[in-house]
Amino acid sequence: MVAVIHHTGCATGFLAHAGFRSGFAARTGLDEAELAVKPVIDPEATVRADVQRLLASAKVQPQISVSGHVYDLDTGLVTTIVGPAQPQPAQRPPADERLKADFEPWPPATRAGPELSARRPTRVA
Ligand SMILES: [Zn+2]
Repeated sequence: MVAVIHHTGCATGFLAHAGFRSGFAARTGLDEAELAVKPVIDPEATVRADVQRLLASAKVQPQISVSGHVYDLDTGLVTTIVGPAQPQPAQRPPADERLKADFEPWPPATRAGPELSARRPTRVA
């Protein structure tokens, strides 16, 4: 089971402002275009999008259920936005692509250094 949880009042919202974003990119060396897709302004919409992305991902096995929630910093309450769902065959790439994805290094080499590549997720039997 995977639970996606975003929260209200996320400071990544600052990245939606072009001026802040370019300054932040300059200070951190991070890619400005990549930062432009990071802000969580509407946590509910971001949760829905992330759950959809996971359900469509070749890396999520069909028996894994995915749900989405928003944690409200003001009330301390967690609201379920998307109930548990399992990847549907129609949403998933063909089996040969899934198989290929299963053997790709994890995390992807572009995202992490070699020290993290050794940490492969454990396969659920
Ligand atoms: Zn946040």
